[in-house]
Amino acid sequence: MRMVRRFFPSGLVLIVSCLIFPSAAYSYDLFFPTVSIVETPRDGGIREEIPKKYLARYERWKAELLSTDFGRQQWEAYAHNNGFVLIIKMSGAKGKGAGTDNFEWDRQGSFVGATITLGDKIDNGYPNPIYYPVLNSLSADQSSYLISGRILAATKLSHELSHVAQAATASRELIEKQSKLIPEYTSIFLKNGHNTRDQKLVELEEEIGGTPIEIWESREYWSEVTAMKFLSERIKDESYYCFVFNKIRSNVTTYAREYVDRFEPAAIAPCGK
Ligand SMILES: [Zn+2]
Repeated sequence: MRMVRRFFPSGLVLIVSCLIFPSAAYSYDLFFPTVSIVETPRDGGIREEIPKKYLARYERWKAELLSTDFGRQQWEAYAHNNGFVLIIKMSGAKGKGAGTDNFEWDRQGSFVGATITLGDKIDNGYPNPIYYPVLNSLSADQSSYLISGRILAATKLSHELSHVAQAATASRELIEKQSKLIPEYTSIFLKNGHNTRDQKLVELEEEIGGTPIEIWESREYWSEVTAMKFLSERIKDESYYCFVFNKIRSNVTTYAREYVDRFEPAAIAPCGK
């Protein structure tokens, strides 16, 4: 808990900078998805809206995900689901980042749609170790390992698919409230000298179920747990398996102590295989 708290101000500043500069270098995720109510789809499935110029690389990344049982299960949860529309887009503006947004529910209260946007360079770029302990572990700098960009891209895709799965079990009302009130929280925070003990902010926290950073980091860490499961299967026979999993363990125990339980057991025991 202590470590996470220690990073609280920088985390909030990070979120604040993303709100102010949405296209800034840190473009990994959209933090506050939009929510809308739509008709129940009857012809759902996965709609891949990939510009022709990106198609070849997209197919390579997707094949990497589908090369594992875990990745196939993630994919098939939507591929054959007529009642859910998953749109996958690719955008040069997202670069090395990715995001999941446009959450849709129908009038009966079922979660029926989401959009994943992948950057055109997600086979490059490692997000910070504090909130992305798994994706970050693939940066093999200062080691002799060469970890393929395809694996990195597929791990990012697995991470995003987890955001969709998380929304399916979340409350629409709560996500909607968070998306609406977090900008309000941020605006007060910016004007009050960054005082998180401000009574209005404390009230907002109660209403949305935590501080913005707590809400956001919890979503990110769940997606990282998913990404770790994909990675565990994909690289189990690779020479760098222990290099990666020891780095995940180091990242999680250094920066995400409060969430260590989620990452068990792979990220806890030192890897010695
Ligand atoms: Zn994420």
